[in-house]
Amino acid sequence: KKPVIAIDGYSSTGKSSISKVIAEKLGLIHLDTGALYRGVTWFALQNCLNDDGSINLDELFSSFDQIELEFKNDHGELILFLNHIDISKAIRTNEVSDNVSFVAKQKEVRDFLLQSQRSLAEKGGIIMDGRDIGTVVLPNADYKFFLTASIDERTKRRYKELITLGIEADEKQVKENLIERDKIDSEREIAPLKQAEDAVVIDNTHLTKHETIESILSHIKK
Ligand code: C5P
Repeated sequence: KKPVIAIDGYSSTGKSSISKVIAEKLGLIHLDTGALYRGVTWFALQNCLNDDGSINLDELFSSFDQIELEFKNDHGELILFLNHIDISKAIRTNEVSDNVSFVAKQKEVRDFLLQSQRSLAEKGGIIMDGRDIGTVVLPNADYKFFLTASIDERTKRRYKELITLGIEADEKQVKENLIERDKIDSEREIAPLKQAEDAVVIDNTHLTKHETIESILSHIKK
């Protein structure tokens, strides 16, 4: 049976791009669970706003039955569609990044998204990356990794990623957003960002993407 792999860690440690390559190498499917939280945030920003522009949580919680999530398998990469719309690009905007941790710390939101994540792993053969995969979503994963890197290195990576996506970015703002999200994600009551006791911790501040991938693969039995 193909393995179930959980990759957690701080924002912009390369979790998703690294997981994607590992999925290709091992013939697994890959799910970036951050996309789910970003998707719900995107929906809230479109449909559930107060007059002052803040997100109305009660409205969001009572709208879950209007949110249909689908995953399309694109060569092993699970692409998230929300109400039949491919939102891959729309969920990367600064507006979504600035609000996602507030949305993700709500118990109702986490409960809403938990089951679809677990069902995807039932048959094995998947690598899932996020913040609480090894601790909450898939506590029985065959392999667990926790990625970390210095804030300055992560800022550089995130900035480069945004520019590549054609999204306007300011390094100082990017850094502030990473610090703010990690703080909210680590301090929240439900499923906080933390390493599972049985996770292999990799600090990749001074590692290339390729070296991080090799390090992870060295732990996985062939
Ligand atoms: O991975 P990404 O940076 O796109 O995740 C965006 C946000 O989604 C995180 O900062 C966190 O608030 C939330 N998230 C989460 N649990 C996960 C994945 C993401 O709370 N498993």
